[in-house]
Parts: sequence; structure tokens; C-alpha cells
Amino acid sequence: MKTLKIAIQKSGRLNEKSVELLKNCGLNFENYKSSLISPVSNFPLEILFLRDDDIPEYVQDGIADLGIVGENVIQETEVEVSYLQKLGFGKCSLKIAVPNTLPIKNLSELDGKSIATTYPVILGKFLKQKGIESDIRTISGSVEISPGLGLSDAICDLVSTGGTLKSNGLKPFADVMSSEAVLIGRKGSENEDLIKELIQRVQSVLRAKETKYVVLNVEKAHLPEIIKLLPGVKSPSVVPLAEEGWVAVHTVIPERDFWERISQLKQAGAQGIVVMPIEKIIL
Ligand code: ATP
Ligand code: MG
Repeated sequence: MKTLKIAIQKSGRLNEKSVELLKNCGLNFENYKSSLISPVSNFPLEILFLRDDDIPEYVQDGIADLGIVGENVIQETEVEVSYLQKLGFGKCSLKIAVPNTLPIKNLSELDGKSIATTYPVILGKFLKQKGIESDIRTISGSVEISPGLGLSDAICDLVSTGGTLKSNGLKPFADVMSSEAVLIGRKGSENEDLIKELIQRVQSVLRAKETKYVVLNVEKAHLPEIIKLLPGVKSPSVVPLAEEGWVAVHTVIPERDFWERISQLKQAGAQGIVVMPIEKIIL
């Protein structure tokens, strides 16, 4: 059997979460900072640690079968790869930002202005689509200081909290794209069975993260109301308690509306609610 290769970021914002995800998939490997390749001892897989910019092309060219990288990098490199799974981390937006002192209100006012960015391809397409002609200045880093140095009127950069913009006297002006880490694969790759197995493991870890295991006690008389509050669960397990007329309900609740649902359950008579994390959900 051929060994699969997955490319992840060597160091930086996506490294830790990518390693954690693969470890949660039950893959055993050493995360040596110094090595470029790490073999997995219990799955036919090797992990390649790379700069994130190189990952889309490595996958497109078949040097790696799979990769974990931000959508922003994929779109900037304009490669042909398959999006296999959004991973829910590395979330950020590519935004145009302007100095607090620049009195512009509409996107069209960027016409004729200069914008510094490390994302000329994505920005170029965005401006073209809006019919705006700006002077795109491609630089390789520290974009946020460029207006202060008089190098550009505006910038286009990745933002998550907005703290970096603020501390450089800039304010967000327009959203260009939102991004998160995704699992990508090569179009028409062999090794489909192994890839499928790995995707299933990733999905079971993600599913588990989105849900909590909940056990609660309720008087039998209130059971129908409780069950009504548990949509999406085919049939919760109901177990009789030693105390006559009481049952324990075991169920899985989405993290999303967790607190709201818990307070509804309490109002409907649930007591002694125990909440536990779930490691994996295999469908
Ligand atoms: P490398 O050395 O691998 O080229 P890098 O410096 O290009 O790393 P990082 O800053 O580590 O990249 O960011 C990696 C990815 O993390 C980005 O491409 C983006 O998808 C995501 N990300 C999430 N939040 C942010 C943010 N606030 N700023 C920049 N990137 C972010
Ligand atoms: Mg990079």
C-alpha cells in the first residue's frame, strides 16, 4: 500500500491546531520542530511540515496527497485542488483598511488610491469585480505599517480581532473574503480508500467538538416535554432510576445553542444535569 502524505504548516498560526486535529484522529507521530517529515506509526501516512504558502502547490502537483491550509492561501495561489472539509479553526477575514484620518465612505472612493497587500491576486479580482481601479502595491509583510510610512493610502490584510489595525491607526473599511483552515486534496488522487478513511476520522473529531453529551434526571411525568426539547436526536436513551417515577435521559446536544437548551430543559423539570465532552462521533 502506498503511504499517504499530508502537508501542514511547520510553524505559525495553523501549526498547533493542525497537529492537534491529526493527534485527535488517533495518529501517532513525533512533532519535531526541526524535521520536515514525520512518519505516523499507526497509519500509512507521513506528515510534511511546510511553509503555508507552499502547501496548495505541493498538493496540486501530487507531492502531498492532502494539505491543511487557509482558504486565503489557496485562492491567492490559484491552484486546482479539491476542498475536502472545512476545519473550523484559523478563522479570519481579508479586509481593506484605511487610516482613521482618511475621510472616505464608499468603496468607489478607492479608485486611484494605492493599496498595499500580500494578497494581490485576491484583491485584484475583488477590485475588478467592483469596477474599481486602484494601484495594488504588493509587499511581503508588515502591511499594516505601510500607510504610516507613506507607502500606500490603504491596506488589504488578514484580520481576526482587529487589534493590529487599531494599534496602527487603521480602521476596517471593506470585507474582501472570509477564510478558515480547510483540508484539501489533489483532484483525481489514487489512494482513495485511505483518503476516505482519514476524512471520516477528521469528520468524527469535528462532529464531537460541536456537541456535548448530556445526562439529566427527570420525573417520568415531564419526560414528553423534555423529549420535545431534544430535536435532532432520533431517540434519547431513557434509563429508570432507583427512585420510583424518575428516569435519566442521555442525549447529545449541539454546542451552538447549548446554554439556551439547558435552561429550557431545567424549566421543563430536568435536574442533576451532567455535561461531558465527546471524543468522537462515528456515524
Ligand atoms: P508561513 O511561515 O507558514 O508562511 P505565515 O506567516 O504566512 O506562515 P501565519 O501568520 O502563520 O502565516 O498565518 C497562517 C494562516 O492563519 C493565514 O494564512 C490565515 O489563513 C490564518 N489566520 C488566522 N487569523 C489570522 C490573522 N489574524 N492574521 C493572519 N493570518 C491569520
Ligand atoms: Mg505564509
